[in-house]
Amino acid sequence: MVDATIYEPERFRSAAYLAVLERGDSALSCRFADKAWSDMQHIAAQGYPDEICGLLVGTTGAEGWLVTEVRQVANLNEERAADRFQLDPAGYQKIDSELRASEVEIIGVFHSHPDCPAKPSPTDLNSAWEGFVYPIVSVCDGKVAEVLCWVTTDDAAAGGKFQKLPHSVERGTMTP
Ligand SMILES: [Zn+2]
Repeated sequence: MVDATIYEPERFRSAAYLAVLERGDSALSCRFADKAWSDMQHIAAQGYPDEICGLLVGTTGAEGWLVTEVRQVANLNEERAADRFQLDPAGYQKIDSELRASEVEIIGVFHSHPDCPAKPSPTDLNSAWEGFVYPIVSVCDGKVAEVLCWVTTDDAAAGGKFQKLPHSVERGTMTP
């Protein structure tokens, strides 16, 4: 990972932003195939200064998630705000149907935070689904500064928050 300064705009220290974070890390974890891990960072850096988003493809098990592949999907939000994105539903449907006969499925959504930390925003929480993994790639001055993975403890409407999910990267080809 590139050593870059991580910018933190004031709003990330506001009560509204801090309120979406749960203390402590999740007991589960997320493993990435190394190509999926590097592809995700490459997509995020290439998209800078725009915010990009995409899907995680892989499997879910008792210990957490295994990401075998990532796919970029268009971000329909053109306001370029660093804390909100809108995943193209047609792109989602296309990938979902492609995977229907396979052993893998869509297990999460990643997005970038240009010149912002890899911490989720209140908007991110409102659009998050329980059971999905949400990696956030902080891209500062065009370089990947940090990647953190998040999961929700429950639906936002039920008082759920984001909890940090430990991750690891594995070399070579992984089979689910
Ligand atoms: Zn975000």
